[in-house]
Amino acid sequence: MMQSYDILIVGGGINGAAIAREAALNGLSVLLVEKGDLAGATSSASTKLIHGGLRYLEYYDFKLVAEALRERERLVKAAPHIIRPMRFVLPHENAVRPWWMVRLGLYLYDWLGGRMTLKRSRGLRKSDVAYTAPLKNGARGFVYSDAFVDDSRLTVLNAMDAHDNGAEIAVRTELVTARRDGAVWRATLSDGRDVTARALVNAAGPWVAELLGRLGINASAGVRLVKGSHIVVPRLYEGDHAYILQLADRRIVFAIPYQGQTEIGTTDIPVDRPEDAVIDAGEIAYLCDAANQHFTRQITPADVTSTWSGVRPLYDDGASDAKAVTRDYVLELDTLGDAGEAPLLSVFGGKITTARHLAEEAIAKIALTTGARARPATRDRVFPGGVIPEFATYLSQVRERWPYLGAARSERMAHAYGALLQDMLAKVTDIHGLGVDLGDGLTEIEARWMYHREWARIPEDALMRRSKVGLCLTGEQTAAFETWWNTNFPS
Ligand SMILES: Cc1cc2nc3c(=O)[nH]c(=O)nc-3n(C[C@H](O)[C@H](O)[C@H](O)COP(=O)(O)OP(=O)(O)OC[C@H]3O[C@@H](n4cnc5c(N)ncnc54)[C@H](O)[C@@H]3O)c2cc1C
Repeated sequence: MMQSYDILIVGGGINGAAIAREAALNGLSVLLVEKGDLAGATSSASTKLIHGGLRYLEYYDFKLVAEALRERERLVKAAPHIIRPMRFVLPHENAVRPWWMVRLGLYLYDWLGGRMTLKRSRGLRKSDVAYTAPLKNGARGFVYSDAFVDDSRLTVLNAMDAHDNGAEIAVRTELVTARRDGAVWRATLSDGRDVTARALVNAAGPWVAELLGRLGINASAGVRLVKGSHIVVPRLYEGDHAYILQLADRRIVFAIPYQGQTEIGTTDIPVDRPEDAVIDAGEIAYLCDAANQHFTRQITPADVTSTWSGVRPLYDDGASDAKAVTRDYVLELDTLGDAGEAPLLSVFGGKITTARHLAEEAIAKIALTTGARARPATRDRVFPGGVIPEFATYLSQVRERWPYLGAARSERMAHAYGALLQDMLAKVTDIHGLGVDLGDGLTEIEARWMYHREWARIPEDALMRRSKVGLCLTGEQTAAFETWWNTNFPS
């Protein structure tokens, strides 16, 4: 029998997963299809900031910044295991913007943030040696707050909460084609199923226009694909703070602590296809140069230990400059103009930070056309594993309760799973219960959890997205992990 759903969501990035969560919590029956892995595309390739976007103030995008700051406050409370507040140092030597403008921008940023739990901005002080010492000219500048997120895991936690509330999540399943048949969509999936849905959501990220083409629908607006790349280099400085560097071309680049190293990004390069999300030598040189202008520790492309690139699918609002195109999202509802026709909602743009808000709006829009009842369901909802005390306290509780995890593994796992560790380790009494160490502390019990609870299907899903352990493994260890995985979870 053909399966029927209220909503079929195409795309398991942050936006598709957040919409699935909001829909499931509204009691709708949901199928989410993702042709690769959850967060396999843009949503694991971001700068990993939960932020208002200080630089959007320069484009007078106050609404976007205020909304994102409201979401920042919510997310910091809802996922304290995978999101951590971070201080950002904004050096002002040789800056391209006047001092008063930056100071005013930061006041505005704090003010738009409303009642916030993060520390407010201030000028750099003589005592801020840890902030200024790594810089070539570090005496003048500011410090402000934003937050850092594990973007892949936030996507998975959205999917997990959706699934726990009835949604079906189908990874490695492509929407091949779909056609409208009056009040329903009839869709063919790559797993051989034909399904129907009362509404279709196009959350295909950089493939949003390609999917519209597949459905035979002409989008009223265009999408601009803009590539952004990051490099990772051995630690440029000590400390858990980040830097926001102003460059001569008026762009800004972040330097952020990442897996014991330093992440530097991003670039803004128009591209033609989603598949062009690959860093090139020019971008590597640009990012090295950006860091070298500010830090005493100099780097060359030879220092780069890893990279990632993503493509922003931005709504084409006609701006001539890639970095000035709006970062706000646009939800386009297509109902063919006839009452009773099954709606199609397409998502253009967006941010990791604003996905929950986007999802709330998406479900409200769909409900208007299908007559379903929608209420905001996730505003104060904590993500799976998020009910923990302040992180340092939680970590000491974890170490006391499961002493055999060891220092490094307990910290990594406390961040990754939060309170869900209780479920994962419920029957484990000593280190042997974790199973074999498959590399850098990732044991069998975790790998099985990733497969059974987090939709990891191939080794890369586990090593590079559910965890970042893959960054530390030798070629031999990776091969051994792959053998273990493929033996235990044959495809
Ligand atoms: C370089 C860069 C830095 C960024 N930094 C930040 C940041 O610091 N903070 C922030 O808040 N935001 C940031 N963003 C923005 C944020 O990453 C994106 O807005 C967000 O990840 C987009 O999510 P998405 O779900 O729309 O798209 P994606 O994550 O790309 O997901 C779309 C999914 O659809 C799937 N798909 C496509 N077609 C089909 C089909 N036919 N069938 C099934 N599945 C299909 C794809 O496989 C893909 O997984 C950044 C973006 C970039 C590129």
